[in-house]
Amino acid sequence: MSDRYDILIVGGGAAGFTAGIYAARDRCRALLVERFSPGGQVLNCEHIENFPGFPDGVAGYTLGPLMQQQATAHGLELQMTEVHSVSLDGDDRVLETDSGTLRARCLIVASGSSITTLGIPGEAELAGKGVSHCASCDGAFFMDKPVVVVGGGDAALDEGLHLTHYASTVTIVHRRDALRGCASLSERARGNAKITFRWNSELRAIEGTSVVERVLVENVATGERAPLPASGVFLYPGLTANTGFLKALVPLDADGHVITDLSMRTSVPGVLAAGDVRHESARQLVSSAGDGATAALAAIRYLRTGRWDA
Ligand SMILES: Cc1cc2nc3c(=O)[nH]c(=O)nc-3n(C[C@H](O)[C@H](O)[C@H](O)COP(=O)(O)OP(=O)(O)OC[C@H]3O[C@@H](n4cnc5c(N)ncnc54)[C@H](O)[C@@H]3O)c2cc1C
Repeated sequence: MSDRYDILIVGGGAAGFTAGIYAARDRCRALLVERFSPGGQVLNCEHIENFPGFPDGVAGYTLGPLMQQQATAHGLELQMTEVHSVSLDGDDRVLETDSGTLRARCLIVASGSSITTLGIPGEAELAGKGVSHCASCDGAFFMDKPVVVVGGGDAALDEGLHLTHYASTVTIVHRRDALRGCASLSERARGNAKITFRWNSELRAIEGTSVVERVLVENVATGERAPLPASGVFLYPGLTANTGFLKALVPLDADGHVITDLSMRTSVPGVLAAGDVRHESARQLVSSAGDGATAALAAIRYLRTGRWDA
């Protein structure tokens, strides 16, 4: 088989696999490229209760493989490799990957986002030794031990609530004086006896000899700093768009998200973006899946008509 496809998709999350389902069902030759685990961020979601079709909710590690299974059953090809750069060569959109060069007429960028790093002492040094981004993966290591969660959005609240099944206490450190998460998660977190909040506070260091032993917390309103004992630190301070590999190929907004129109088309013919990676995404599973479908339909239209504005 030649390595020229109709549609290349970068990213195996909800957006990428949904685009893949639509492309494959339309008999396009489509390949999805994923660098880590198929499923994307959903694999870090302990319990998803806002994705339609699952009245009792669904675990992310269940939903991720189901998305992959559904897309590949329809004929989507999957390659595990990392994309390093993208360029244009006539009608071709060209990807340079760890495993070589890939070409297609259309490219759907569905590379999502990664949890922003805090850049504080101890964060990198103690990663995997108490510092984590995944409560469902690592929570059980902290049975009856105190843990700290950083962030005030849905991810921090969801993961903090999950950690109450294991930890003795969960302290949520949030740099503002109010939560950003949805009302139902905020109410549950506030009503959980194991959870306490440190408002207007930021982590300045994560400390420990070989594993995490404590964190240094600063109250940004007063400037006061104090150590807080912790065996685990779960970081959800925000998200950074995975767009470094695009370089200057398409316009990005000030935060690095890809700018598209409502059909998910960028200003470069044949290049589309979908999901968390695009400007003004709702950054939810269901909106990412919707973006993926919209992007694939626009790509198919372009393949058929040759017109980018059709
Ligand atoms: C802890 C947590 C809990 C959440 N809970 C919920 C919830 O309850 N409900 C909800 O609706 N949403 C929730 N979200 C948000 C939801 O997970 C995201 O909105 C959604 O997964 C985004 O999907 P996506 O396909 O756009 O991107 P992603 O899922 O981020 O997938 C992008 C994929 O692209 C890959 N990739 C990136 N760069 C490259 C490259 N250069 N080469 C190859 N592959 C690459 C990545 O490895 C990744 O697998 C949660 C998020 C987190 C972190």
